[in-house]
Amino acid sequence: MNDILNQAIQIAKPNLSKGKLADYIPELTKSNPQNIGICIVDLEKNIYEAGDSNVKFTIQSVSKPIMLALALLEYDEEKIFSKVGKEPSGDPFNSYMKLEIVKPSKPYNPFINAGAIAIASIIKGENLQEKENKILDFFRKMACNPDISINDSVYKSEKETGHRNRAIGHILKNEGIIEGDVEETLDLYFKQCSIEVTVKDLALMGLCLAQNGINYNGERILDEKISKIVKAFMFTCGMYDESGEYAINVGIPSKSGVGGGIMASVPFKYGIGTYSPSLDCKGNSIGGLDMLKFISEKLNLSIL
Ligand code: GLU
Repeated sequence: MNDILNQAIQIAKPNLSKGKLADYIPELTKSNPQNIGICIVDLEKNIYEAGDSNVKFTIQSVSKPIMLALALLEYDEEKIFSKVGKEPSGDPFNSYMKLEIVKPSKPYNPFINAGAIAIASIIKGENLQEKENKILDFFRKMACNPDISINDSVYKSEKETGHRNRAIGHILKNEGIIEGDVEETLDLYFKQCSIEVTVKDLALMGLCLAQNGINYNGERILDEKISKIVKAFMFTCGMYDESGEYAINVGIPSKSGVGGGIMASVPFKYGIGTYSPSLDCKGNSIGGLDMLKFISEKLNLSIL
């Protein structure tokens, strides 16, 4: 396995300069565009890592499947899907166009920003601090890492510059999708996106979903039904408006984020985490796409 991971990195490296760092969140421009790392965890608990696997980065949109899982623990499906739809939007992740033209005005799915903000708005808790503690606790359990925490500089950077997300939040409030306070909802959303992880954390979270809710330590965190719903969204909507092409090229339920991370979950086989912050025009990590395509072909991992 170590050889395969090193090969994947060598194959991906030459293409890194074709992409660019996400710069609409100023703090993300501090990443090194040449960083590239990968981690795979199997069902026998072997952990394989290669490249810059110790580099920490913010989870960004990879938080969305985890938050969906948490919301599904707190509410029944009827409630969740009264807030968000179940279909790919075909639009960029930060689009609000269809919120205006499609009625009733409900985000297409929980992985576009509008859908993720709607999900953040229903997480239970007396106040922001209680919700923050709860989500951190849940991410830590999924990844079996008690040290996971929020990168405060990225959080502040997102909060200061998140005008688009703020606009989405207010449209959702106006449409009655957000029930509570919009600013508190946005704050929780910015915090979930600023959670700092390594490729190993992503691989372990991917493993928990791959085992239908049982984490690396053998604890049941989610039931099978929730895990399957989350993986279904990862497969159909996980790679922005490039999810169809990714299903053809890689064929593994995955979620990417503009911080450069990808979490992949190969049912009953592996959890995989990749990092390379140089992004293509859709927001997907160029190195991550190349590595996952190579590994999927090499190990025959497409679920199709
Ligand atoms: N915090 C980012 C945003 O809301 C997350 C985007 C992403 O990773 O897709 O714009």
